[in-house]
Amino acid sequence: MIYLDNAATTRIDPVVLDEMMPFLTESFGNPGTIYPLGSKASDAVYLARGKVARFMNASRSNIVFTASGTEANNLAFNSNYFSKNRKGKDVILISSLEHSSVLRTAAFYESKFGMHVYKIASTPNGTIDFDDFYSKINEYDGRISLVSIMMANNELGSINNCYSIAQECRERGIPSHFDCVQAAGCVDINVGTLGCDYASISSHKIHGPKGVGALYIKDRNRATALIHGGGNQEFGLRGGTENVAGIVGFGKACELSGLADKSSIVGLKRKFASEINNVFKHTSLTQNIHFNAHSDMNLGKVLSLRIDGVDAETMVLALGARGVCVSSGSACRSLEQEPSEVLKAIGLSDNEARDTLRFSFSRMNTEDEVVEAAGIVASTALFIYNSYYCQ
Ligand code: PLP
Repeated sequence: MIYLDNAATTRIDPVVLDEMMPFLTESFGNPGTIYPLGSKASDAVYLARGKVARFMNASRSNIVFTASGTEANNLAFNSNYFSKNRKGKDVILISSLEHSSVLRTAAFYESKFGMHVYKIASTPNGTIDFDDFYSKINEYDGRISLVSIMMANNELGSINNCYSIAQECRERGIPSHFDCVQAAGCVDINVGTLGCDYASISSHKIHGPKGVGALYIKDRNRATALIHGGGNQEFGLRGGTENVAGIVGFGKACELSGLADKSSIVGLKRKFASEINNVFKHTSLTQNIHFNAHSDMNLGKVLSLRIDGVDAETMVLALGARGVCVSSGSACRSLEQEPSEVLKAIGLSDNEARDTLRFSFSRMNTEDEVVEAAGIVASTALFIYNSYYCQ
C-alpha cells in the first residue's frame, strides 16, 4: 500500500506506540490518584505537556489537552465568547477556506448567540486575501471579538502568513486564533513569535494516536471549559479522566516531529508533482493536468491535483483498488455529494472541483513510493478517461 492521505490521518509512529504501551498496560493508573501508580500517570502527562508546549514554543501552563483538533477549535471559540473582556463585541472574522470545525462552530455562535460571522475572501493561491482582511478589519473596527484563520489549508496545502495577521490583531487588541492542525510537522508553530491568543493542533496528523489534540491558550483568564465536571483536570478547563496513553503518544509525536526535517515533506510533494508532469507528458491527458493553488509558498503537506474530465471519486476508488490511498476534496467531505466549498472559493467550477484529487505526504513516505504512485495515477487516469470517451 502507498498511503498518500496524510491530511486525513497519519500512521502511528512505532516509537510513539512504544512510548504509549506501558500506559495501556501495567501503568494504567488514574493521574488524579496519589499513590505511586497514579503519580506515574500524572508525571507522564506532565512530561507530555512539556513536549507539546516545546513543539509550539509555549509554556506547559498554556497547553490544554482535548480529544481532537475539532475540540480544540471549539474550545477556542467558547473561551473567547465567554471571556470577560469581550465587552459585547459581536463580530467573528474567519476565512472562506476554514475547516468545518471552524466554519460550523462560527455558524453556531452566529445562530445561537447572535454573533455576526464574516468570511475573508481568498486568493487563487488558497491563502487569505490581505486586501479583504484589512478592509474587513477596518470596516468592523471596535466590534471584532475574534479572528480565526487556519495556518495551513487541509485541501490545498497553502500556508497563510499568520505572523502578519497576528501582528495586525495585536496592534488593534483583537484576539486571534490559529488552526495549526495541518501546519504541524510542515512549518514551525511558534506561538511566542506569533503572539496569538489561541492555537490548535491534533495528534493524529503528526503520527500520534487519534483522540488527542491541544489548545494553546495565552491567558487562562480568557478560557472557558466546554466539558464540565470531573476532578479539575486540565486546569479545570476539561473535565474527565485524562487519556494518559494518548497524551503520552501525542507528546512523543510532537518531540519527533520537532526533530524531523520539515523540508522533506515538501521535497516529496515536489518530487511527486514533477513525476506527475513526467508521466503525463507523452499522454493524451497532458493538457488536462492542473495543480490547484500552486505557488512557491505552498509549503503544506497537501498537493491538490485536478485531472480535467476524470471524476475524482472514481479515481479514489480505482486508486484504492490498486493500493494507493488518496482523497477527493477533504476526508471529512468525502461522503458528501456537494463539491468542496474551499475549491470553489479559490475559483474552481463545480466540475473542476469534482475532478480534484488530494494527495498528502508525511515524513514516513519515501521517494520511491511517490514515484511509483505517480505512475499508477497516470495509468489509472488514462484507463478511466479512455473508458469514458473512447467507446
Ligand atoms: N483543522 C484542520 C485544518 C483539519 O484539517 C482538521 C482535520 O482534518 C481539523 C481541524 C480537525 O482535527 P481532528 O481530526 O483532530 O478533529
